[in-house]
Amino acid sequence: MERESLFHSIADNEVFYFSCGPQVPCYNACCRDLNQFLAPYDVLRLARHLEMHTGDFLAAYSLCHDGPQTGLPVVTLKPAESGEKQCPFVAAEGCRVYENRPGSCRMYPLARMLRRARNDGSLTESYALIREAHCRGFEQGSPMTARQWIADQGLQPYNELNDAMIDVISVKQQYRPGPVKGVLGEKLFAALYDIDAWKTDFRSRTVDDCRQIGLSFEAPEAADDEEVLRFAMQYAAALLRYEAGGSRQEAHM
Ligand code: SF4
Ligand code: SF4
Repeated sequence: MERESLFHSIADNEVFYFSCGPQVPCYNACCRDLNQFLAPYDVLRLARHLEMHTGDFLAAYSLCHDGPQTGLPVVTLKPAESGEKQCPFVAAEGCRVYENRPGSCRMYPLARMLRRARNDGSLTESYALIREAHCRGFEQGSPMTARQWIADQGLQPYNELNDAMIDVISVKQQYRPGPVKGVLGEKLFAALYDIDAWKTDFRSRTVDDCRQIGLSFEAPEAADDEEVLRFAMQYAAALLRYEAGGSRQEAHM
């Protein structure tokens, strides 16, 4: 498939024309040419959709890599065995995990960029429109703005949880360059992606364990997965900070 693409910035209230669904001639084409990163919240939503433990989901459907820019563990969707780059969830009738599809599937054809202010840490978002040669959704699209698209696609919880990763990335880049390997890498991977395993592990922690790495011990309700993930990201940032803060020994967490 031809992957020529054109990005251009778009204001959040600027109108563009796009629609996607069984009516477009390229229906599912993009799901058969996969290069899909999964954010921590994507893993959680997909695992819950498939009623799987996050660890089982990761083993069955993902590949783990070192993030090229951050050195943090990152996860991509493992292509289906039937097709070289085919998403394991695409079927003739559409997406089999549609209600819990990843944030990037929802966001397309938009890209969302975040900038963090140095002085107060506030986040500013901006958008770009991606026009790819194979995508015919622009030809007979309905009028839409980025703001409407975010609402229509149910992106708000995805954006919120993805924004929580900014802290982890920023601590990592500030204190610890290069890939994170060994036990620390495994702990970060569990906290960010294998949240069911992390929850079990976290229950064995004490208040002192948490204080040691500078994390106030306010474990959320185990039943609220989103709160647990948010807390696990705070844990990951605190652990990285602790590891880089002069301790030469492995954190006890
Ligand atoms: S998860 Fe669904 S929408 Fe996303 S690439 Fe796979 S089939 Fe397509
Ligand atoms: S219109 Fe674009 S997003 Fe929709 S199926 Fe076709 S290539 Fe994918």
